[in-house]
Parts: sequence; structure tokens; C-alpha cells
Amino acid sequence: MGDVSMTLKLPQSMDECIYFTRRKLEEKGSAVAWVYKEKCPKCKKALMGKPKDPKTGKTKIRATEYVCPSCGYTMEKGAYEDTLTANIQYTCPHCSYSGEHQMSFKRKKVQLINPETRKKKSADALKFPCKKCGKDILITKKMK
Ligand SMILES: [Zn+2]
Ligand SMILES: [Zn+2]
Repeated sequence: MGDVSMTLKLPQSMDECIYFTRRKLEEKGSAVAWVYKEKCPKCKKALMGKPKDPKTGKTKIRATEYVCPSCGYTMEKGAYEDTLTANIQYTCPHCSYSGEHQMSFKRKKVQLINPETRKKKSADALKFPCKKCGKDILITKKMK
């Protein structure tokens, strides 16, 4: 078992993504995760994106839907994002193995325990097993 070559393509620009994050995972681990925009499921001609303000031409970042700029097909934010694929490059926080993983961007609720207070809380996260040691790796949404 040598090094695994990295095959996932990192985005050239944030415009290609609906999600991009770079994280430190505990003491030794780290991860980069990103989700590409995908084509309209209806006309397949253009990438779905947040709607633009017709007056200013600026993207409405807080919009709760995605729109196809070609045919106008609209999808609710969560429903669209659940259809996308998350790309992850990671260094395992448990065994230091470096690998890649692809999974549905449909995030699941996980229980987290704060190491200082021992309090439990639930958070949305991408959760997948390390290819080498099989232990779970979690990439949580940003904490408030
Ligand atoms: Zn379309
Ligand atoms: Zn591992």
C-alpha cells in the first residue's frame, strides 16, 4: 500500500461551488470539502445558481432556492443541495492516512460532545469512514 494518488479535482474558483470548506480535524487531521454546482435537472443546459437581483444583477446569497438561468426551473435550496455530491480530501485524525472520499451532500444530524463541557449537541455533518482505519470522520457545518 503506497500513497493513493489524488484523483478529485479541486475547484479552480469558488464560483464553481455551492460549498467549500477547509478544516482542521482534532490534533492531526484535516479535510477539504467542496460541492460543485450541477446542471439544471430539467433542461441540462446551465448550472443552477442562486437567483440574481434583477435591478443590481447581484446574486442573492441568502435566497432559499436555486434557479436555472437558462429555463427558469426553480428548486428549493435543501432539495437541490441534497442531489449534489460532496468531494472530500482528508488526512484522518485517527490514523493520519491521507485519502479521498465522495458522498452525497445530503447531510445528516450527528451527536457531538464538547470535549470541555461534555455537553451533547446535534449538528449537520458529512460523516464517512476512513478508508484505512474505518473510524468515522466528521465534517460539521460551521458552528454558530
Ligand atoms: Zn434549466
Ligand atoms: Zn484513519
